[in-house]
Amino acid sequence: MERRHFLQLLVSTAIVGHTLSLQAAQQAPAQAQSNAGGSKSPLPWRNWSGSQQSVPAMRVAPRSVTELQELLAAPNHRHLPVRPVGSGHSFSALVPTDGILVSMARLSGVLGHDDSRCQAKVAAGTLLGQLGQPLEAIDQALFNMPDIDQQSLAGLLATATHGTGSKLMCLSGYVSALTLVTANGERIECSQTQHPDLFQAARVGLGCLGIVTDVTLQNTRPYRLRKTTEWLPIEDILATADTLADQHRNFEFYYIPFSGMGFTSTHDLTDDPLSATPALDQNDGARDLQKARDYLAWSPRLRRLILGGYMRTLAREQKVAPSWQNYTSDRNVRFNEMEYHLPRENWQKAFREVVDLVENRFPEVFFPFEVRFVQADDAWLSPFYRRDSVSIAVHRFFEDDYQPLFAAVEPIFRRYGGRPHWGKLNTLTAAEFQALYPKWQAFCEVRKSLDPNGRFLNPYLAGLFSDNTSHG
Ligand SMILES: Cc1cc2nc3c(=O)[nH]c(=O)nc-3n(C[C@H](O)[C@H](O)[C@H](O)COP(=O)(O)OP(=O)(O)OC[C@H]3O[C@@H](n4cnc5c(N)ncnc54)[C@H](O)[C@@H]3O)c2cc1C
Repeated sequence: MERRHFLQLLVSTAIVGHTLSLQAAQQAPAQAQSNAGGSKSPLPWRNWSGSQQSVPAMRVAPRSVTELQELLAAPNHRHLPVRPVGSGHSFSALVPTDGILVSMARLSGVLGHDDSRCQAKVAAGTLLGQLGQPLEAIDQALFNMPDIDQQSLAGLLATATHGTGSKLMCLSGYVSALTLVTANGERIECSQTQHPDLFQAARVGLGCLGIVTDVTLQNTRPYRLRKTTEWLPIEDILATADTLADQHRNFEFYYIPFSGMGFTSTHDLTDDPLSATPALDQNDGARDLQKARDYLAWSPRLRRLILGGYMRTLAREQKVAPSWQNYTSDRNVRFNEMEYHLPRENWQKAFREVVDLVENRFPEVFFPFEVRFVQADDAWLSPFYRRDSVSIAVHRFFEDDYQPLFAAVEPIFRRYGGRPHWGKLNTLTAAEFQALYPKWQAFCEVRKSLDPNGRFLNPYLAGLFSDNTSHG
C-alpha cells in the first residue's frame, strides 16, 4: 500500500462521512418544501448516520421570517408539535418528530455586518461551508471551526459544536445576539443586554426555545493557518499533549486503536505562502481500514505490529491555507459517535481507561479516537460552561451496533465528570444532566415561560424538560 494511500485511509476514515449522505442532507430542504403544502404521503426523515428516523406530518422550509411566524401562529396547526432541523448531523434524538419539521435552509447568507466590532449577522440556515468566502469579503473570519462544514449555523450552535484550541471556545461562545420565533409566532431578539436570560439559554438551546432565524457572530480578521500533522507513538503524544495544546493555536490528536500510534494535528498563524492544492485523491479508505481490521482482528499483536510499524514510517505533512479552508475535511464513511467533554485535569486517566477497554474487549473497533481541547464559556447549557475541557470521541461504523461499545465507555466518561456533546449519543437522564449543569433549572424556567405547552418538545426532549408538557 502506498504511503499517501494509507495516510488518506487513516485520516479520512477516522472522521469521514458518506458523500451521498451529505448530498442527501443538503437536499432535505427541497424535500421539505415539496411537502409544505400538506402532501398525502409524508416524507420520512433520517439523520446523517441513519440512527434517528421519523415520519413528520409536515415538512416546511419557510421563505421568510414572516412565513415562519404565520406557520407557528396558524390555528389549524397549533395541535402539532414542531421541531427545527438543520443538516441532520446530530446523532442524538433531538430532531425526530411526527409533527412539523421546520428547516431554515431557505434563509441563508450574511445579512449585514458591523466592521468596527468585527461582527456579522448571518441567517440561521446558512451552512458553515457557505460562510468562509462571504465573511472574507467583509474582512472577517470565524475564530474556529469543527471537523466538517456541512452543519447549519443554527443547528451547530444548538448543540455547542466545537473545534479544538485551548484558548478557543465552542462556536456558541462567539454569538453576540440572536433572533428567534417562539411557539406562538412571536419574534424576539436577544443579547447580553436585551433579554439576557433568554440569550444565556438560547446560545445552546437544543431547538427547544424557538426557531432561530438569525445570529450575530463575533468574528476576527481573516487569517492564514499552517496545519501540521505528525505520526507519533501514543505515549509520546500523551507526554506532550497538554503542553502542545497551550503552545499551538489549535491542537488535537487521534489515536488509532490497536496500533500504539496516533497523529497530532496543529494549526498556527502564519504569513507564509499558500500551499499548492493537492491532487484529488479518490481512495475510499474506509473499506481498506475495515479490511485491515477484518484480516488482523484475530491477532492484536500482529495488528499492532503491522499498523504501528507502518505508521512509524510516515512523515510530517504541512499545509498553509486561509483559515476557513484549513480546518475541515470531507467524511466518506458514516459512523455513530459518543463524545464527552471532561475537566482538563481528568482527561488523560479517562483516555487511558477507554483505550484499555477497547483494546481488551472490542477488537472490531477501527475508527480512531479523537481528542480536542476547548476553552470554557458561559452559555447555560454549554457542556463547557465555566470549565476548560478536553473532548474525547469514540466512533462505530454506521452498520455496526454501537450500543455495546458506547454502554461500556460511557461509565468511564461519567466517572471522570464528563458532560456529553448534545448532538452525540448518550444515555443521561434529566436528573443526571441537572447534576452536571449549575444553570439547568434556570434554563428550564426560560423554556417553560416561552413554551408552556411543550410544543417544541419531542419525546426525547420531553424526557429531559417536561413536567407533562410534551406534545409527544
Ligand atoms: C460527520 C460529522 C462530523 C461532526 N463533527 C463535529 C465536530 O467537529 N465538532 C462538534 O462539536 N460536533 C461535530 N458533529 C456534530 C454536529 O456538529 C452537531 O450535531 C450539530 O448540531 C449538527 O448541526 P445540524 O445543522 O446538522 O443540526 P441538526 O442535527 O439538524 O439539529 C441539531 C439541533 O439544532 C436544532 N436546530 C436546527 N435548526 C434550528 C433553528 N433554526 N433554530 C433552533 N434550533 C435549530 C435542532 O432542533 C437540533 O436540536 C459532527 C457530526 C457529524 C455527522
